[in-house]
Amino acid sequence: MKILPKSVSDFMDAFKNQGFQIYVVGGAVRDLLLGKEVKNWDFATNATPDKILSLFPDAFYNNTYGTVSIPVSMTRESSLLFEVTPFRKEGEYKDSRHPEKITWAKTLEEDLGRRDFTINSIAYDGQNLVDPFSGQKDILNRLITAVGDANKRFSEDALRLMRAIRLASQLGFLIDDRTRLAIEKNARLIEKISWERIRDEFLKIMASDHPYEGVLFLHNTGLLAFILPEIDICFAIPQKSPKRHHIYDVGTHLVMSLKNCPSRDPITRFATLIHDIGKAQTFRRDEKTQLITFYNHEVVGKKLAEKIAERFRLSNKQKEKLVKLVQFHQFTVSEIQTDKAVRRFIRNIGPEYLQDIIDLRFGDRIGSGAKPDSWRFDLFRKRLLEVQKEPFQIKDLKINGNDVMNALKLKPGPRVGKILKKLFDDVIENKIKNEKNDLLQSINRL
Ligand code: ATP
Ligand code: MG
Repeated sequence: MKILPKSVSDFMDAFKNQGFQIYVVGGAVRDLLLGKEVKNWDFATNATPDKILSLFPDAFYNNTYGTVSIPVSMTRESSLLFEVTPFRKEGEYKDSRHPEKITWAKTLEEDLGRRDFTINSIAYDGQNLVDPFSGQKDILNRLITAVGDANKRFSEDALRLMRAIRLASQLGFLIDDRTRLAIEKNARLIEKISWERIRDEFLKIMASDHPYEGVLFLHNTGLLAFILPEIDICFAIPQKSPKRHHIYDVGTHLVMSLKNCPSRDPITRFATLIHDIGKAQTFRRDEKTQLITFYNHEVVGKKLAEKIAERFRLSNKQKEKLVKLVQFHQFTVSEIQTDKAVRRFIRNIGPEYLQDIIDLRFGDRIGSGAKPDSWRFDLFRKRLLEVQKEPFQIKDLKINGNDVMNALKLKPGPRVGKILKKLFDDVIENKIKNEKNDLLQSINRL
């Protein structure tokens, strides 16, 4: 088995020297066995929190989980928080959310039995693995399997429904059949879980190596219908029609777009996944021609994206990004676009999100069955870069706020910003030149 880093084995020795048992547990053992870098170290011990606190002067205690956190330096530059939790067992669950209270266990085996999946229920003391639920076998077979009675485990704590799919997406594992059936059966219990916790797991799925498979798991187990019903219904919206390039229904197109989106950013991927959600409400099929249209679907999509961002309790910044990417995903990629139109597009989406919307659009194209290389797309990308080199931000104007205040005898305030914005728009529209004299003259005319 693996040799532990010295800082980890020294840390464990501090417990062993006092006659306590201590094991590395959870994700750390899983990642060690998979040969992955361990990002956080969790331990289980038979020492009480008081005892642990007395061993480490800079430790601190979290009452809710009984976990003691201890800062430990790993290298000269970096330190990590080691989390040590006394052996616990499953308390009574009343609401599919939280145990009523923490219940301490006497043995390691009891502690491992309360954990969610077999691959997370292996302990390591530095020499031997303790693996009562055959987690190593599941690691070899690349399977997520609930510990014990799957139905019971998901009804105890419905967050595990999301955790199963999140782990499968991160590790590239499948979900064991019985466990998957239990997820399907208990999917509606996800409604008991707070949106903050659902969001955290969902964004981890988006950021994982297999976000596309993750969304398919969510869809096929019925979880997607609870957390993102707007996407779920898209699988019933056809878009194959005469003279159209589409080969998939809207839902399949959305997941295929995600699959082909080159960005690793979870919000860009999220936006790619939902970019066409407005199509469900705007679907029209002409009786005579059988032509399918989705007029203004990006306007409806923008509103839905706002709702989704609020439901997922995204930060303001994340929300702005998600909404903008959905709202402006329909840009024209064409050599006959004028510079002015290209500039307007950059201004709408904002230079900050240009690469993201290009990545979304790339996924969108390939996710509609297009071939990866397109001279038109490459040309457009070049245009975006060229046009950006030209002045087009307010700070690139040849006058600044002070000039405006001096010229108009104004005090600092929002009016100064408004005037600069007006000048900026006029420069963009080629109504005035970006020259100090021209700008000052036009201020005096305002
Ligand atoms: P990572 O830290 O890489 O996200 P992890 O498996 O370490 O993955 P944590 O959330 O840090 O996940 O949890 C540590 C361990 O605690 C898990 O490996 C698992 O054994 C246990 N655990 C966490 N959440 C639950 C839960 N909801 N139900 C049962 N056991 C859980
Ligand atoms: Mg962990």
